[in-house]
Amino acid sequence: MDLYEYQARDMFEAHGVPVLAGEVADTPELARAAAERVGANSGGVVVVKAQVKAGGRGKAGGVKLARTPDEAAAHAEAILGMDIKGLTVKQVMIAEGAKIAEEYYFSLLLDRSNRSYLAMCSREGGMDIETLAVEHPEKLARIAVDPIAGLDAAKAREIIDAAGFDEADKDALVQVLMRLGEVYAAEDATLVEVNPLVKTEDGQIVALDGKVSLDNNAAFRHPDHEALQDHSATDPLEMLALEKDLNYVKLDGNIGIIGNGAGLVMSTLDVVAYAGEEFTAADGSHPRPANFLDIGGGANAEVMADGLDVIFEDAQVKAVFVNVFGGITSCDAVADGIVAAYDILAKHGKSPKPLVVRLDGNNAELGRSILDGAGLPLLERVDTMDGAARRVAELAALAD
Ligand code: GDP
Ligand code: MN
Repeated sequence: MDLYEYQARDMFEAHGVPVLAGEVADTPELARAAAERVGANSGGVVVVKAQVKAGGRGKAGGVKLARTPDEAAAHAEAILGMDIKGLTVKQVMIAEGAKIAEEYYFSLLLDRSNRSYLAMCSREGGMDIETLAVEHPEKLARIAVDPIAGLDAAKAREIIDAAGFDEADKDALVQVLMRLGEVYAAEDATLVEVNPLVKTEDGQIVALDGKVSLDNNAAFRHPDHEALQDHSATDPLEMLALEKDLNYVKLDGNIGIIGNGAGLVMSTLDVVAYAGEEFTAADGSHPRPANFLDIGGGANAEVMADGLDVIFEDAQVKAVFVNVFGGITSCDAVADGIVAAYDILAKHGKSPKPLVVRLDGNNAELGRSILDGAGLPLLERVDTMDGAARRVAELAALAD
């Protein structure tokens, strides 16, 4: 999960990273009121910042300096509703204005290929860091950080030394980096990035922007992170799937996909997309997968019912492909699951959509005979993956 800047700011503050006052607002009036409070210590100067989960807001006109509350309200008026990289701005942060002397860059991230953390730091921040990394790689210090040891004082000093900071600034920077390292470790982040980390005219080091990604796999350790989730920005079907603990990703086609195992589901998406090219719907489009859904190796009837439930909720779905390779959960258990799923859906007053089932692997014959014996409406059984993909594509194309 990626955080908004204001959420990162609050998280930084909670871990002792120096930040400036900031409040969110979603109307110009609230922005004016926030500016009155936030600007109290900066001679009324505030910065109005678009809250979208994208970088380069400054260049896009989403970061504006205001000298009075009225000016802050006017900037908020202009920025709210703005489109930045395809995202609509619904909130702005009113941040205390800083007198910037220098802008630096710092990030700490998960380096999967080296099974390590990686810290990056530069005296030249503010700008697009990808450009700096390409054009002046020597100006971007890259230091591996041992995940067990973490970002301790010695490591922080090594990073600061490698980035070539002035001696006078080093102690303060070491302290800030250690705090950012604490954010990373204590919150189970996979990225903590500050661009710019600034030195103010009076010599303070302050995190002026913040980008934090949290590791969803560690969510169970952080009940408080749930509140950081932006439900309004999440696809409603993905929300529903999340509530049911399903591994679901919404795509834009019309063929619902359920499979067991991420690899099988991925190849199912490919095979269905390929088969879809053979068929053309009345509107001239080719059928394509509507989602990714992996119900996992040990799926029971309830998980199958939950999966079908989410997929049937998708108004775009015209036909569904259940592609299961029996392993730990054998095909007869999966077939029982599909039969039970129909019962559960009927109880919820939902009618089924055309469904193509391919069962193979452990106890395939038994599973197939259970399905045949159940006489489920709109259900067809096809025993090869290619054949089933072609049939479901045909059904989806015929549906409109
Ligand atoms: P980004 O463009 O999305 O990365 O947004 P940032 O938060 O990094 O802001 C962009 C730029 O606005 C920064 O690099 C700063 O130069 C400038 N900026 C942000 N906050 C302040 C502030 O409080 N005072 C001043 N003078 N400039 C600011
Ligand atoms: Mn920035």
